[in-house]
Amino acid sequence: MSTKILITGITGFVGSHMADFLLEKKEVHVYGLKRWNLSRLRNIRHLLDNGRVTLLDCDITDPIGTRDVIEKIRPDKIFHFAAESFVSPSWLHPSHYMDVNYKGTVNLLDALRQAKINPRFHIAGSGEEYGEIHESELPITEKTVLRPVNPYAVSKVAQDLIGYVYHKSYGMNVIRTRSFNHEGPRRDRVFGIPSYAWQIARIEAGKQPPVVYTGHLDDKRNFTHVRDLVEAYWLAMELCEPGEPYVIGSENPENIHTFGEVLNQLIAMSTVKNIDIQTNPEFVRPTAVPRLIGDKTKFYNLTGWEPKIGFKKILEDTLEYWRDFVRKDLY
Ligand code: NDP
Repeated sequence: MSTKILITGITGFVGSHMADFLLEKKEVHVYGLKRWNLSRLRNIRHLLDNGRVTLLDCDITDPIGTRDVIEKIRPDKIFHFAAESFVSPSWLHPSHYMDVNYKGTVNLLDALRQAKINPRFHIAGSGEEYGEIHESELPITEKTVLRPVNPYAVSKVAQDLIGYVYHKSYGMNVIRTRSFNHEGPRRDRVFGIPSYAWQIARIEAGKQPPVVYTGHLDDKRNFTHVRDLVEAYWLAMELCEPGEPYVIGSENPENIHTFGEVLNQLIAMSTVKNIDIQTNPEFVRPTAVPRLIGDKTKFYNLTGWEPKIGFKKILEDTLEYWRDFVRKDLY
């Protein structure tokens, strides 16, 4: 009998890669939630005719619909990736971010409680929860103080902590990770690296003058390939203690860069030389998060996980993805 694994947010960046990862395993059936009239299917088009994938319509902000799908599937494991995940619009829609990221998570947890099932339930928390971190506090551990500085981050703290509350109150098997920037094919082009790669691909195709428009370039992050991250999430599900937080980052200097450094590396990889960089004030956020570098020691000690894919490959895969996208004129 197959293990029933539910992925919320399967149409998104991480959820679609998680589905690919799970389907490499035998005896797994993947259930994915999508929104009936909103979801973009391009990230999972290759899975639509796969007999081991079942898609169900559900907006997680609706408690009734959420309860129905949980009762219908009665999953053995849940990877919860459905979220409003982009920081910038969260200042315009702070309530909506709480509705999806916090209340949506409550709806799922409570649906499990009411269905009287207790599968492992993974919550994909974010390094953004730490927010305003001083140089002396690096690298970030599970004990570092949370000081979120944007509405997205506040909603992720709330999501993370309500997971803890459901674990503490009802003994639910909530697995809490806090991961840092993951990148690779399929990440939407509103985010930094995909945006640079998309613009460079358009410049190469002659569809845009040789200028890349950016937001703030000084912020420093640790970057991990999404394929490494979904493996980490799988290990978290198998080996981590419910209720405990786990930082999944990389202190490896090869993976730590400012966005400006990343952009320069991408430009160096382009077939077009002499590409300019210009700041677009519209992309600059009201608050910045200057540095986020996670210390994965606690997670590593339990799982032995380390990223296998190098930083150059992250950039190559991303650039190739957007070149193909532009070639096929998909937008
Ligand atoms: P994406 O924005 O690519 O995907 C979000 C997914 O959530 C989409 O499938 C979207 O579906 C779905 N969704 C949004 N609103 C709803 C709703 N109301 N009901 C049901 N589904 C909904 O995000 P990522 O894949 O990058 O992120 C996944 C998770 O990982 C998020 O929780 C994010 O905060 C977290 N995370 C991500 C990091 C990263 O670097 N990518 C870093 C740390 C944490 P639709 O197609 O319908 O829009």
